[in-house]
Amino acid sequence: MIRDPQSILWLNFAVGVVSGAGWYWYQQRNSSEPLKKSVLSLASKESESFRNGSASASTSSLYSNTENETSFQAALQSAVIDAASIKVDMGVENSCLPKENDVLLASSSKSHADNGQASVLSQVNDAFQLSTAKLHNLVRAFIAEYEKGLLAENHTLKMLPSFAKRPCGSETGTYIALDLGGTNLRVCEVQLEGNGQIRSSGQKFTVPESLKKGKGDDLFDFIADCVSQFINVRNLSKESKLHAGFSFSFSCRQTSLQDGYLLLWHKGYECDDVLNKNVVELVNEAFERKSVGVRVVALVNDAVATLLSSAYVNPECCIGVILGTGTNAAYVEDLDRIPKLKTHEHNASQTTPEIPYSPLRNVGVPPSPINPPTRTMVINTEWGAFDNRRVILPVTSYDYQLDRTSSSPGIQIFEKMVGGMFLGELCRLIFLDLVKAGELFNGIVPASLEVSCNFLTAYMSRIGRDHTDELMDTKLVLEGLLDIQKTTTLDRQIVKRVCALVGIRAARLAACAIAALVIKINKLSGCTVAVDGTLYEFYPHFRSHIRDALSELLGISADKISLVSSKDGSATGSAVAAAIAASLIPA
Ligand code: ADP
Ligand code: MG
Repeated sequence: MIRDPQSILWLNFAVGVVSGAGWYWYQQRNSSEPLKKSVLSLASKESESFRNGSASASTSSLYSNTENETSFQAALQSAVIDAASIKVDMGVENSCLPKENDVLLASSSKSHADNGQASVLSQVNDAFQLSTAKLHNLVRAFIAEYEKGLLAENHTLKMLPSFAKRPCGSETGTYIALDLGGTNLRVCEVQLEGNGQIRSSGQKFTVPESLKKGKGDDLFDFIADCVSQFINVRNLSKESKLHAGFSFSFSCRQTSLQDGYLLLWHKGYECDDVLNKNVVELVNEAFERKSVGVRVVALVNDAVATLLSSAYVNPECCIGVILGTGTNAAYVEDLDRIPKLKTHEHNASQTTPEIPYSPLRNVGVPPSPINPPTRTMVINTEWGAFDNRRVILPVTSYDYQLDRTSSSPGIQIFEKMVGGMFLGELCRLIFLDLVKAGELFNGIVPASLEVSCNFLTAYMSRIGRDHTDELMDTKLVLEGLLDIQKTTTLDRQIVKRVCALVGIRAARLAACAIAALVIKINKLSGCTVAVDGTLYEFYPHFRSHIRDALSELLGISADKISLVSSKDGSATGSAVAAAIAASLIPA
């Protein structure tokens, strides 16, 4: 007889899911639209049952990582994905929160109401709001995808081994840190003082658009020139080469902390001749060509670097998140929970792989009596690629449009709904639709809005901070910066609403990915999540929107998750990686 309340809760839920799955199978065989709709409502009711009072208890028990619950989790997750595919089949992009009693929507939809149509603004309003039930579905799907990515290579979520472990905070030394993001290159001088203290100062360079699409050598020469300028101005040149860490925000398959082969470009980069090449060799060759006295000794993804930087200072930090041009995350994983590492070891002993792959080499500090072999490794999730097939993400026609016209169609779909590079463009596409429907700017398309990427995400931040009655700063953005003539207060209210819908959706989606990681690594009892990126830093209330969604998802456990801003952590963390790597290089 089962008496333990957690087991009873778990059992009830399992029975519910199994009967739900059976019922769903029956519906599939006799598929008819009304019944499918019922399945959807069942799926969302099931999600609702996570909420409120028992949320944290049910969340932790339902998503627990223990062995005997794995098959239950798999059943649950596949049921959720199935329900999501029905949603897409039916073309229902969003169930929605109850409609607000909203003067803005009412006034903009007046003419449509007269002929029985919903206004475009009200459709956008519905399509961009994500209910708590939807967030729960996304969390489950994320957990399932994280696990699949750890199991085998070439899964949508790559879950790439970084060969870095959490630092202990006693690493010391002065290093050059390079951070190539989607928009900027940061070069820093970083002093690791031990005792978890970091001093750093640096310079930001904007990467010219032409170099993002040209030859790889030109891009790496640009990096070498920036580093040369930086060390000359500061008089840092020495007889022996300075050691550097390289934080690189694009997917690389790493074979050690010192080697990484580029898998794909995104965020507007298209230097195709770099694909499959070792980026550490390429940047070091550029330093040789330009006679720069620096050598990169460690390569890390920027999310990994953010985690390392924060973990150096705070032992509670186990997740690093990027919310800048794009989005990504890294976390600390047990080696035993990365099955694909074992497969690699096995394959390596059977064949001679093209790329030398030695998973347990160079993971953090070398094993010794003082430093026993580490049992953890930082994993780069590459979560921007979540649901590239668009089965469960609440994609709208605007997301499809943005993807089609991007430099990398069909990939990084989650990133395109969250990253700073894309949010302004989504707003622009919505504005154009509203203008065409006669709901904005008197139905006249402003020339500036016809140019792609002309509505910057930074404008969204500015408009989000405009709390004047007449939205005067919004007026300055629209009329002054974008040259849109004679906007009305209603125009500006609509623009502000669209920006908020796009921004809040991004924050809530990011919260799902974070909650799923926290649950996956069993840290509901408490952990620190370090976040770097200009979007997180400057978008008004982005952090509060993430926090709200975390509370909806995790109940009181959300209070135990501390979100900390790790400004420039993606740069300084590469110096931490360099310190770890330098300790591995024979003197
Ligand atoms: P990187 O990805 O190169 O490391 P950042 O973290 O600085 O760069 O992020 C750059 C992105 O931040 C740009 O794509 C831009 O869209 C966005 N951004 C810039 N300024 C703002 C702002 N004021 N508010 C919100 N987002 C911004
Ligand atoms: Mg960055």
